[in-house]
Amino acid sequence: MFVVCTKMGKRDIIIAIDGHSSTGKSTFARAISIRYGLTYVDTGALYRGVTLLSQREKLNDLKDNKNLTKLQELLEKAVFEFLPTGPNGYGQLYLNGENIEEEIRSIEVAQMVSKVASIPIIREFVDSLLKKYGAKRGVVMDGRDIGTVVFPNANLKIFMTAKPEIRAQRRFNEIIAKGGNANYQEILKNVQERDYLDENRESAPLKRAPDAILLDNSYMTQKDQLRWIEKIVMERWGSK
Ligand code: C5P
Repeated sequence: MFVVCTKMGKRDIIIAIDGHSSTGKSTFARAISIRYGLTYVDTGALYRGVTLLSQREKLNDLKDNKNLTKLQELLEKAVFEFLPTGPNGYGQLYLNGENIEEEIRSIEVAQMVSKVASIPIIREFVDSLLKKYGAKRGVVMDGRDIGTVVFPNANLKIFMTAKPEIRAQRRFNEIIAKGGNANYQEILKNVQERDYLDENRESAPLKRAPDAILLDNSYMTQKDQLRWIEKIVMERWGSK
């Protein structure tokens, strides 16, 4: 069995991965979770899940306080959980017992999620769930504010980025590979809009924590990235 950090004990760490959208944070975080025996938490999925819930209830205008209050009431009763039903036992998001993993990846959800995620009470709701997951430690989480706001004392912080055109192309390829319809220009616009909204919102904006290590994977394969993290883990904790 692999031991990640002999000094702290294998399960006693939190790895925070933040960065721009469509940089492959979740793929990278999953690979780390498998490599080092940690639990992976996809924090963006929770914001997407909240967005889906509001769309289903036709609460699209959340600037309207009536709608926001209604959404808050729904969230108080909602049960979000990750169950290991994905390929290779990956966690998939369930809302009140329904698998919503595919629906939360739709372009409709992608177009609204950053607006929903900019609302402070929504962030409070998601943060409270994340703190519960993190309390058990032994986790790797990816998002936008994990190393800055949710777990500022994370043991290892990584900030991921890549050129917007490359990110849009990857997203485009992914959708086409799944047999879907995609428009590259529309995806690029969405990537750029999400960057803007994430970086410029008042509540927990996306920014690199001073102690986060930068990973620009524009020209890196998944294998390159795994080698990159293995080197860091080895330097920090002296484990393979
Ligand atoms: O990571 P993903 O692209 O699935 O996240 C969806 C959206 O949720 C992001 O564009 C961002 O606006 C928001 N988000 C956030 N904070 C996080 C994770 C995601 O604001 N920790």
